[in-house]
Amino acid sequence: MAFDINKVRADFPILSRKIYDKPLIYLDNAATTQKPLAVINRISEYYTRENCNIHRGVHLMSQEATTAFEDTREQVAGFINAPSREEIVFTKGTTESINLVASAFGRKILKKGDAVLVTGMEHHSNLVPWQLLCQEKEGSLKVLPFDEKGDVDITVFENMLSEDIKIVALQHVSNALGTINPIKEMISLAHKRDIPVLIDGAQAMSHLKVDIQDLDCDFYCFSGHKAYGPMGIGVLYGKKEHLEFMTPYQSGGQMVDRVSLYETSFNEVPFKFEAGSPNVEGVLGMGAALTYLEETGMEEIMAYEDDLLDYATQKIKTIEGIHLYGTAKAKIGVISFNIGEIHPYDVGTILDRLGIAVRTGHHCAQPVMDSFGIPGTVRASIALYNTKAEIDHLVEALHQAKNMFT
Ligand code: PMP
Repeated sequence: MAFDINKVRADFPILSRKIYDKPLIYLDNAATTQKPLAVINRISEYYTRENCNIHRGVHLMSQEATTAFEDTREQVAGFINAPSREEIVFTKGTTESINLVASAFGRKILKKGDAVLVTGMEHHSNLVPWQLLCQEKEGSLKVLPFDEKGDVDITVFENMLSEDIKIVALQHVSNALGTINPIKEMISLAHKRDIPVLIDGAQAMSHLKVDIQDLDCDFYCFSGHKAYGPMGIGVLYGKKEHLEFMTPYQSGGQMVDRVSLYETSFNEVPFKFEAGSPNVEGVLGMGAALTYLEETGMEEIMAYEDDLLDYATQKIKTIEGIHLYGTAKAKIGVISFNIGEIHPYDVGTILDRLGIAVRTGHHCAQPVMDSFGIPGTVRASIALYNTKAEIDHLVEALHQAKNMFT
């Protein structure tokens, strides 16, 4: 299937918006991606034709909505090549998925003196839950360092896998630096020592082909909104044996089997972890987003974005005084930088006036900024609808920003 950028752009209505009378150039995709019409229409269709609470309704609309919801669980499992649909838990997003595992799995297996291993480039979402767990259990957090390019050293990782490590929690792709971590090798090394591995896949899902059976990770977490789907919906993939071993995370309706006044037995997995009325519109919208990715073709998207990243990196490097953070061997389209001493916020504000949306600051990865001794960066992050012409505008705008401040 040929990748047709004009068709892709036409699929995203927001891209025709003007910002201060300038065409919108949206380069804040690592924060959230824009939504194609297919997703917007799916949500609208749900509320126009199917709106119902699911699972227990005897009437037709409830049954239709239940089928659509559960079919999406099957679709998600297929999309990431998970062994079964029972291993797909719907959550609010990556943050909730990680908290669920830290709470329902970590609390059960971590004992005093044990440790959790993370990398030094984690998003706060894959750091703070483990800090809290270690504090509660009087354990310790161990941190795999990364070099100035943003790469981890697999040998250092292997040497850090000591007996006290009971969980490894790794970012698949760094939101601050763009690094694609060698997670397959890391998972395999951890498994040689029987250590379960959680992968934070928030930044991977829209850029890479994720194959759970090939990775063989124990848990994989992602958010719908970073992969062209709606906000407030995400996924926790967990190996069935782990999900069955885990205690419920939240309790209430849906997650129960039989309730008497003083005792409750729980529903089977994955429902044991889905307390309360679910985000039906979110699940259906996310399903439409995954269909969109499939129809556009992950291989085509990856090739297109790789080429755009190369182009953008070469162009941005030509700006005098620019410092790029994150030049790892394997990267997605995240370009983090500063220009001389100009504060990232000032650069971001000028770009905004020119219609260009980027992110500035620490990107919820303060330890990464600390390691470079900076408060933050400007981050331009690429999605499948960005173009070389947009990159040219960005570079031109950066020249303007530089001239204003120097
Ligand atoms: N991990 C990474 C690598 C992220 O980039 C993000 C979002 N910026 C998260 C976790 C958290 O995702 P969410 O806010 O959708 O839960």
